Amino acid sequence: MTPPFRASRSAAPASPSPRQAAAPSPEARAALAWLHGARFLTTASRLDQLPGDELPEIAFVGRSNAGKSSAINRLTQQKRLAFASRTPGRTQHINLFDLGPRDAAEARLADLPGYGYAAVERAAKLRWQEVMAQYLELRRPLHGVVLLADARLGLTDLDQRLLALIAPRVAGGEVRLLVLLTKADKLNRNDAQKALRDAGEALAAFGGESADIGVTTFSALSGQGVADVAEALRGWIAARPPQAGAAGAAEPAEPSEPPQPPEPAP
Ligand code: GDP
Repeated sequence: MTPPFRASRSAAPASPSPRQAAAPSPEARAALAWLHGARFLTTASRLDQLPGDELPEIAFVGRSNAGKSSAINRLTQQKRLAFASRTPGRTQHINLFDLGPRDAAEARLADLPGYGYAAVERAAKLRWQEVMAQYLELRRPLHGVVLLADARLGLTDLDQRLLALIAPRVAGGEVRLLVLLTKADKLNRNDAQKALRDAGEALAAFGGESADIGVTTFSALSGQGVADVAEALRGWIAARPPQAGAAGAAEPAEPSEPPQPPEPAP
């Protein structure tokens, strides 16, 4: 199964998918049904609170207001799912949702806190930045990252800093990367093409022989990109060789280099 945008070994930008208006393929329908079965599992403020069963995790990250909650809700077809991450006490946590059969989850969606939100109190911000950096750099079950960026803004400095955290794992093929240029309904065709081109160029730096990097336009409002993204995420998990063994979070960091998470937006 090959998604229509690049989910392969380069950061070549994709064209806005001509398939948006068409009915989803059987593969896309199956992938959507898979995502629609998402259900809240747990919330964690530290890595050692995350499950230790090694199920692969797909992390959703992005600047606050990038459209992450809307994208998760649209992909899972559950109006309130990502807003579960916004209930008091969970906003600066990693919120996990199970995917797959109810009695045998096969993967997880991890909703990470949005970054760049100026109104968060500084100490709290620094703490979750560190947790997020640790998660991205060290969490062993992390299988893929979906980075959401407003298509009109493209990849900002904060996004680049987040990308730098996962760059080694992406370059080595351990972690896949899919960039969603969100709110694409606000762009005309030329602007969408330009946004894809610019993002593709920015992502080229993160490529490598083994890297699996994709970029596509997305709209939670119009549904553009939804079926394709579902198919890509399902593909990430389906292509995964069966894993043996357990043990959850990666070993604690050898703090040789302190993580450099994105900092608050000015
Ligand atoms: P988050 O902070 O990243 O979770 O962002 P939200 O999902 O809460 O979205 C932030 C704002 O962008 C809200 O006002 C949404 O209604 C709007 N938004 C999100 N997705 C879309 C989209 O696909 N199209 C348009 N036009 N607006 C969107």
